[in-house]
Amino acid sequence: MDALDRIADWIREARNAWAFTGAGVSTESGIPDFRSADSGLWAQTDPMEVASLDGFLRDTPRFYAFWHWRFAMLDQAEPGATHRWLAALEDKGRLRGVITQNIDGLHVTAGSNRVYELHGSFRRGACVTCGRGYEIEQVLARAQADGKPRCDGCAGLLKPDVVLFGETLPVDFYEACAALQRCDLLLVLGTSLEVFPAADLVPQVKRAGGRVALLNREPTPMDDLVDAVARGELGQLVAGLVERGAGFLPAGPETRD
Ligand code: NAD
Repeated sequence: MDALDRIADWIREARNAWAFTGAGVSTESGIPDFRSADSGLWAQTDPMEVASLDGFLRDTPRFYAFWHWRFAMLDQAEPGATHRWLAALEDKGRLRGVITQNIDGLHVTAGSNRVYELHGSFRRGACVTCGRGYEIEQVLARAQADGKPRCDGCAGLLKPDVVLFGETLPVDFYEACAALQRCDLLLVLGTSLEVFPAADLVPQVKRAGGRVALLNREPTPMDDLVDAVARGELGQLVAGLVERGAGFLPAGPETRD
């Protein structure tokens, strides 16, 4: 019996299954991840300049030059097979919901109902001083005009509502921790498990007695901790699970006429 056989059985048996996803579920939608060698975003850009609170405050115009490009890419992306498979599992009552580190909103677009976004969403913006919310289009238009978008109320700097290195996590993280108390199966998909505290969700489920299945292209520091590891491209791994009777794959752009 291989890892996919066991994971498919566990999905059928589970009463309280959750998915925990990372950038790897969206690379097949054309969004580069952070850490894959060569193709990952950090192979080309210094993360501390464009994805840290320090970098944002130190050189806001440079931050926005990068994020303009990134937002344009995120805005065009469509859900891939893994997003659609997870949404279908939830729809059939086989999955409680998705906890994601991604900011791309693709689980919601794919139809997942319960989605905890641990690192925020690229679709919103907010003032770093007073917290007032803005449409991201407004923030980007102001950034384009003079590099430093300002709040109408307090003139504080406006920032995309995504969690940067150096910031604390939103309430979604604590809600996800509470939801996982009774989790009997955590499907971990497309994450290097190197970003904390998000990655702590894996040992948390193990400590509470749940199973953890990891599906990823590359090894992670938690491979020895989990109950099964299926290594490969997610599109193929998901197809393998569907073949084994674990959920189904709704049609997507690549399968429609
Ligand atoms: P990461 O880049 O650290 O790791 C991604 C993992 O996915 C890697 O281990 C890689 O081997 C694997 N992977 C990539 N494509 C795959 C595929 N097609 N099939 C199977 N595995 C694949 O990303 P992370 O663990 O999510 O953590 C880093 C941070 O990245 C998160 O905080 C997240 O906010 C941010 N991020 C988000 C996006 C997005 O929203 N789409 C994109 C890049 C980074």
